[in-house]
Amino acid sequence: MKALVGIARLPIEGCGMGWETLDYAHVGWAATEFPDGRISVGSEAGGTVVVRWGLEDQEPAGLLDGRDAVGWRAVCECDWRGPLWTRVAADGEHNLGLRRVYADPGPYSDTPDDVEDALMREWEGHLEPPYLVMS
Ligand SMILES: [Zn+2]
Repeated sequence: MKALVGIARLPIEGCGMGWETLDYAHVGWAATEFPDGRISVGSEAGGTVVVRWGLEDQEPAGLLDGRDAVGWRAVCECDWRGPLWTRVAADGEHNLGLRRVYADPGPYSDTPDDVEDALMREWEGHLEPPYLVMS
């Protein structure tokens, strides 16, 4: 019998809410992205904890105000990154089909629920197909 490896939705230390495969090969989360490319890994009193993407050792590289974010992106510790969901300035430009999001992330970079669900689906899509194990 083959069975799909489960995917858990869980709080990941330092990363807020994230997703991981049960074999821990992939650990992803909905990151908020800032103009200089830094991405969120969580929040703490005063703002959003960000790191520079791609460093082996992702030490926190600052504390930013989520209201300065340019958008959201699904990321994974395997170095995969999904497309950017661009934050737009006006309600009328909001279009999830075009990955355009009108939302205020607040200082702690909250990801809107519907965007987070879409990011999770994108993240699931990057898993090696078919993501199967013998059981
Ligand atoms: Zn991955």
